[in-house]
Amino acid sequence: MKKKINSYIVPFAVLKPGEHSYLFSVEKELFTDNNYDEIHDCQLKAHITFTKNSAIVNVTFHIYGTINVTCDRCGDDFDMEINLDKNLLVKLDSIVHSEEDDMISLGKDEVDFDIAPYIYQYIVLSLPMQRIHPEDKDGIRHCNKEALDKLKNLEVKESSEEQYILNTNKLLQHLKEKPLNN
Ligand SMILES: [Zn+2]
Repeated sequence: MKKKINSYIVPFAVLKPGEHSYLFSVEKELFTDNNYDEIHDCQLKAHITFTKNSAIVNVTFHIYGTINVTCDRCGDDFDMEINLDKNLLVKLDSIVHSEEDDMISLGKDEVDFDIAPYIYQYIVLSLPMQRIHPEDKDGIRHCNKEALDKLKNLEVKESSEEQYILNTNKLLQHLKEKPLNN
């Protein structure tokens, strides 16, 4: 993380035992400040519950809403739905700071907990490799038709050029095999 966004910091050490819920609005700066330019905008909420039980805090993340990404098929931007649940176990008062997949240990001097890197990572890792306008309830994708038509024309043009090269090669091959009589 390049920059800490203060609004995502939770004063962990002073949390009383029991359950505490927070609702965060995820701002697009979480992505832009980290130079992650594949998410252009977002309408996201993170509902986070901390359940503290002596030196262990169980953190559950429910992140939902939409992010604005570019469609790999037509090139238009669209809002993609996000709905994910994650769980993180945090051990307090550890001798050394350590991080594993779903568990981290905080040292005695770490009183605040920045949840921004986790929200960021969970969202970015949940993105599919290919992002395409989703189908609506009638099974129709709302891709940009004009852009798709242009792409199709481009493909036709390319393939006719390829065909031309192929034909020329065939002709050359043919000439090589059967030299024309001078
Ligand atoms: Zn599309």
